Amino acid sequence: MATIFSKIIAKEIPADIVYEDDLVLAFKDIQPIAPVHILIIPKKEIATVNDVIEADEVMLGRLFIVAAKIAKEQGVDESGYRLMVNVNHDGGQEVFHIHMHLLGGRRLGPMLVKKK
Ligand code: AMP
Repeated sequence: MATIFSKIIAKEIPADIVYEDDLVLAFKDIQPIAPVHILIIPKKEIATVNDVIEADEVMLGRLFIVAAKIAKEQGVDESGYRLMVNVNHDGGQEVFHIHMHLLGGRRLGPMLVKKK
């Protein structure tokens, strides 16, 4: 199903695009939670990781290639960064078009805050 990210891919709404090729688009998150916060998405509409099929293997592998390239360009490859993909409600997914968050530029802390 089409989401706001489909509109960004179609250039119907603006985004701060940092990378684009035939399979993948990357743009700055509109509400960054780290000095570097970029979303890397496949151009194909796939709602969640649960919807991935084997034919998506190369395209989804490209997300990592692009992540490494952007991390270097943004100067966080050596200091470090985190790649995150949220899935469904408990994962905190808000936009149902698979996306990889690239976060860096500060110490990001533990993966999860322990439940009290
Ligand atoms: P998630 O919670 O993993 O689904 O993340 C969705 C992300 O998309 C959030 O970090 C939002 O800030 C971001 N976002 C939503 N709309 C836009 C937009 N138009 N341009 C850039 N980032 C967006």
